[in-house]
Amino acid sequence: MNDDAGSGAGAGRRAQPIGGCLDRSREPLPTRVEGLPPLPPAYSVVLTTGLDELDLNLPPAAREAIDDHVRLLLALNAAINLTAIREPAEIALRHVVDSLTAAALLGDTAGFIDLGSGGGFPGIPLAAALPVERVALVDSVGKKAAFLAAAVDVAGLTGRVGVAAARAEELASEARHREGWPAVTARAVGSLAELVELAFPLLAVGGRLIAWKRGDIDDELDHARRAIGALGGGEIDEEPVRVAALAGHRLIVVTKRGRTTSQFPRDPAVRRRLPW
Ligand code: SAH
Repeated sequence: MNDDAGSGAGAGRRAQPIGGCLDRSREPLPTRVEGLPPLPPAYSVVLTTGLDELDLNLPPAAREAIDDHVRLLLALNAAINLTAIREPAEIALRHVVDSLTAAALLGDTAGFIDLGSGGGFPGIPLAAALPVERVALVDSVGKKAAFLAAAVDVAGLTGRVGVAAARAEELASEARHREGWPAVTARAVGSLAELVELAFPLLAVGGRLIAWKRGDIDDELDHARRAIGALGGGEIDEEPVRVAALAGHRLIVVTKRGRTTSQFPRDPAVRRRLPW
């Protein structure tokens, strides 16, 4: 798990709805895209190429929502530090196209939780591109959740997409989230075993965790199998990513097959002491 998660930021707070996570002591974040700088042509070229490779034909409104999120990200990144990638064309590839590599997998899902959504990837591009009924973007860091709420607003996704300034562990203890979701997405949040421990308590039986991974993850898979066995059982599938510029990227799909007992997820301190 990354440092943010381990630091206890957000611990003890309840999940909050959209808007409730905004830090009122600061300037309000922009809620309109007008006035933000436009995206350069290189961004659109890279995005169009990636969408073609993914065989994804987005309606103009979806593409506009995606672009508006990126415009807000670029405008606020210096202040909030949402991504180390600063070039719009690189953001098109490494954030937007990379997020949308799961579009085919999630095409028929009713909803998903994006765990550790950070600057909104992969949750916002997927929510914009797919006809999903409900999406929850979750981040334990308040200022990131505040950004997510503003981005959802700016992108016009408010009806379907909610934001929670909370740790995934907190959501897992709430009845309305516990084993209630058909899918959980997570990119750059933790090892696969850690993600299984956070995602399985939120997933309905038959639901899927989709994790973005690259490189050699054999070791990670071994640990993840132990976690899967303890949290209800299931199987792991791998989907290669068919975008030339994202060579080596893979989506790991873990399908949950049995109920998860209430002892999971364990406290972060216990997880650190007794990893899978
Ligand atoms: N998914 C984004 C951000 C990755 S950084 C992307 O791929 O660009 C990891 C994010 O996960 C951070 O914003 C951190 O605050 C959040 N995070 C880590 N552990 C978490 C937890 N247990 N619950 C909720 N958010 C968590």
